[in-house]
Amino acid sequence: MPEFVKPYLHHFVSEQEMELVVKMDGRSLTRDEIAALFEDHSMDVDRLLEQAYQRFVVNKEERNGALYYSTGDFYARLDDQCKFGNYYVLPQEIRRQLDKWCYEEYLKRHDNFQLVVDNDPDYENCHNDLIFLESEVEEMIDAAEKIMVLPCNCKMLADNCDRLREVCLFFDDHITDRSHGRYLSKEEARELLHMADQKGLMHTGGPYNWREKGLTAVCNCCADCCYPLRAAIGLGTKGKWPKSRYIAQYDPEKCSLCGRCTKRCHFAAFYYDGTTIKKGGKEKKNVAFNPDLCWGCGLCANTCPNGAIIMKEL
Ligand code: SF4
Ligand code: SF4
Ligand code: SF4
Repeated sequence: MPEFVKPYLHHFVSEQEMELVVKMDGRSLTRDEIAALFEDHSMDVDRLLEQAYQRFVVNKEERNGALYYSTGDFYARLDDQCKFGNYYVLPQEIRRQLDKWCYEEYLKRHDNFQLVVDNDPDYENCHNDLIFLESEVEEMIDAAEKIMVLPCNCKMLADNCDRLREVCLFFDDHITDRSHGRYLSKEEARELLHMADQKGLMHTGGPYNWREKGLTAVCNCCADCCYPLRAAIGLGTKGKWPKSRYIAQYDPEKCSLCGRCTKRCHFAAFYYDGTTIKKGGKEKKNVAFNPDLCWGCGLCANTCPNGAIIMKEL
């Protein structure tokens, strides 16, 4: 846990949870061993353990037919608190420091980026490795048996934009007894996906072989908050991680220069080039397209009123 968070620890753990963690002293213990650590025998240990488990203060695992509890780490507790706790009562400066700490921790814990930078063929197997078109996520929703929506932890931590936040879709076995989100029908999930797309969020997720391996999760991301996309921009892994499989194709003949795509694209692949041209009898600001900056998210094509952009498979 970072030093600067210690004065705010009571926002993350209750007094009883703290006592539990101190008494466990880094050991892996059964329920009865934990109960024996408390002098107050009237205390409801089962309730405390369940609460601490649900809040990622402790983890549990079955070994040789017995259930063992061990203390969780602050990274997981922070993830849960920012999504489901009263996180925004913390001073903004502390939240900024937590975002920075968590981002650095995220990079340490996901060596996927290094695999990409090193050109290791194993990067194909990274999680969260594809940028999907909206139509592809619709296909995943159709295939899913269970769908849950959760708040986006990157946006809650980074707080760099005011876009939709309850947008992370978990599917099937990726949903656990600690996911804590809301179940959605397929219809609701499709609506949410469409709304996220309309509001300018890109769809990322995996695995690339979900049809064989099963569905996991799809995120609806912006480039301001999203840890994977921020890391990809910072480390220069564009196109490889998350992997792009499409590229926009622009037909200037069909374009009415409405400028919508210049606002939709997170990477300025569509932009005003500073010149003006005559279109429909009016002098208009000219729109240009730089394919080298395109990540293949499809946001521009989805809302172009004239069909001047199509997504081409790479
Ligand atoms: S990957 Fe994107 S949607 Fe998922 S948690 Fe991060 S920003 Fe949110
Ligand atoms: S959204 Fe379509 S019509 Fe509007 S500027 Fe972009 S390409 Fe042209
Ligand atoms: S130009 Fe590429 S990156 Fe930009 S919105 Fe279109 S598909 Fe996405």
